[in-house]
Amino acid sequence: MKQKKKINLLSILIAVYFVTILLFIISFHNLKIKNSRAMISLFQGLTENKIYYENRKGKIFQFPENVKKYSVKIASQSDANDYYGLKTSGYKDGYDIYSDDSQFANDCQQTIDDARNLINVFMQSKLLEAIRSQGKKPAIMFDIDNTLEFSSRIDTDLKGQGPPVKPVVELVKYCLKNGIECYFITARARSDSRELSSTKIWMKQTFGFSDFQLRKYVYLVGDLAYGRYHNICPGLGKNVSIAYKDVLRKVLSEKDGVVWIMSIGDQLTDVYGKNSGVKILVPNQLFDNAIVPNPYYDKTGERLQVKELPSECYPQIKEVILNISRID
Ligand SMILES: [Mg+2]
Repeated sequence: MKQKKKINLLSILIAVYFVTILLFIISFHNLKIKNSRAMISLFQGLTENKIYYENRKGKIFQFPENVKKYSVKIASQSDANDYYGLKTSGYKDGYDIYSDDSQFANDCQQTIDDARNLINVFMQSKLLEAIRSQGKKPAIMFDIDNTLEFSSRIDTDLKGQGPPVKPVVELVKYCLKNGIECYFITARARSDSRELSSTKIWMKQTFGFSDFQLRKYVYLVGDLAYGRYHNICPGLGKNVSIAYKDVLRKVLSEKDGVVWIMSIGDQLTDVYGKNSGVKILVPNQLFDNAIVPNPYYDKTGERLQVKELPSECYPQIKEVILNISRID
């Protein structure tokens, strides 16, 4: 009888021991989840500022000049040529190319080195681990023209053979190697068959992407920014440009469960918005030239402004943005 009581008592003690351990593990796990959420929330709060102060210009909200219309004039008069060590039509079938020993090459390398160091800090600080512990994926957005691909004053590519901006291309490879999702959002127009086709060719050649990867990671928002869907959100006024890249980032975040840790581009429209993560601008002197008349001034002299999408338009844009921007 005594023996049986002893066994019962022992069983109870063992059960209590294991329940205590289990409760400890659960509470530790919950604390970890809570801490991870807090870390992500802090990071997003710190990086969601919409405005990027561009020291080089000292102004905010400036929109790029329409260099395409004035490329000949710039080519003959601009000192940007020296900055790039520009070799006009010096690459493959008539593409411009910058010199590896130019100031541009040096500045770009430094900017990307800084970005890479920051990514390393994120990895060491467990930010990426915190994101993954929430069942989400850390991601970076890259612009294409004059960020990944040197499309020079044309600012697009109709053949898909343009030169890479080497440091940025290498950063993409580094991120992919370290399990960071890379998305590519360009303002090229999907409805332009040459721009669509050149984008596919270049991304395949540069990164070896499959059709599946192109469809999942590459988006062309030009039709929204200035093309056939330009008036999809009415009443904005003619001197307003919506930051559609940020709208797409928000949609992708909801759809793919990504957390944007960084956005990299050469224009304010690339980094503007709450969903960018850290905002990184690579240098672009091609569009910053005083000799070019600015076609975006309206009659009152007001500059085109970049703004976030009015919230009332978001549900409608969310319905269509993937279908009108992704590669099929
Ligand atoms: Mg660009």
